[in-house]
Parts: sequence; C-alpha cells; structure tokens
Amino acid sequence: MTSETKNFNENTIQPAQSILQAPLLNIRPINYVFNVSRAMSIWPLTFGLACCAIEMMSASMARWDMARFGSEVFRPSARQADLMLVAGTVVKKLAPAVKRLYEQMPAPKFVLAMGNCAISGGPFVFQGNYSVVEGVNQIVPVDVYVPGCPPRPEALLEGIFAIQKKLTGRRFWPVARNVGDEDLAQEDGLK
Ligand code: SF4
Repeated sequence: MTSETKNFNENTIQPAQSILQAPLLNIRPINYVFNVSRAMSIWPLTFGLACCAIEMMSASMARWDMARFGSEVFRPSARQADLMLVAGTVVKKLAPAVKRLYEQMPAPKFVLAMGNCAISGGPFVFQGNYSVVEGVNQIVPVDVYVPGCPPRPEALLEGIFAIQKKLTGRRFWPVARNVGDEDLAQEDGLK
C-alpha cells in the first residue's frame, strides 16, 4: 500500500469535529428572530455527487421552486453555506474532503443526507465493496435523512422544512395532502 492510498483508508479518517462557542447575546426573543431569519435563508453548499443531484437541481427549478423557501442560493464556498446537502454516493477517496468542507462551514450548520447512497451506501453495499462509505454519518453529523433512490424533489423540500423546524420549533408550510385523500377525491368529482 502506498502512502497515498493509506491516506484514503477509512481507518485513518476520524469523524469531523465541530466546536461551538456560546453566543455573545443570549436573549430568547432575539434568538428567535435570528433563527426565523436563518430558517428562511438556508443556503446549501453545492455538493451534487451522483444521480440524486439531478433531483436536487430539479428542486431549485420552476416546478418545485425552492426559492419560495429561501434555499435556492447554492454556494460554491463552504464558508458561505448553512447546509451540506449530500446528494449522492460518497466514496472513501472523497471522505477527507467531505470532512474538511463540513469543518469549514460556519455555525449554525446542518447536514442533510439525500438518498440511500448518502444514508447507507445504497445499492453499492455488497460483499466485496471496497470504495463506498456506508453512510455519510460516519464522517459528519447528519441532521435530516431523506430516503429514496432517488428521493423526489418534494421529499427534499420536506427535508428542508425539517431543518427549518429544528431551528425555530415550528413548521411554516401546510402539509401536502395525499392523492388518495377523501376530500381531494370529492373535490375532483371522483366521488
Ligand atoms: S440513492 Fe440512488 S439515485 Fe441517489 S445517488 Fe444513490 S444510486 Fe443514485
């Protein structure tokens, strides 16, 4: 094993560290105003790794229009991002970069694991797998998991709503109805 490959050995990668300092001002109503402001402007790090990233891109386009919820500002620098949106397969060679980017993000920061690959390695987990990280939570602390292969853009929006709720303690948007709901069927003249 060369020294170069040794650097990418999973045994040499320690989970990311996040040191939080106490806020200068800790006044509850002011904190709430700050947190609502943060919740309405969660800027994701541009971090598409595989096919799930196509759904992530769709979420920011006209049909789902993630801009309605303040999260369309994808940043190319970790220092300007609030949310690491891991959309795709994390390979062991990439793991040190994932960790470094997370550590570069300013607090408060969040991680959303989008899709089965980011959550657990997805379809790449099989006997003899040597290259895929079986869950990005082994490297960075994950706040929200959005399962699916791939998850739909609506599911990603729900994940962002969950982070908004983590920040503020409340959900700001109505819950989408299931297509099979009785009232919806009546509305459509099906009953
Ligand atoms: S979860 Fe499925 S769609 Fe998403 S990156 Fe993995 S294989 Fe692709």
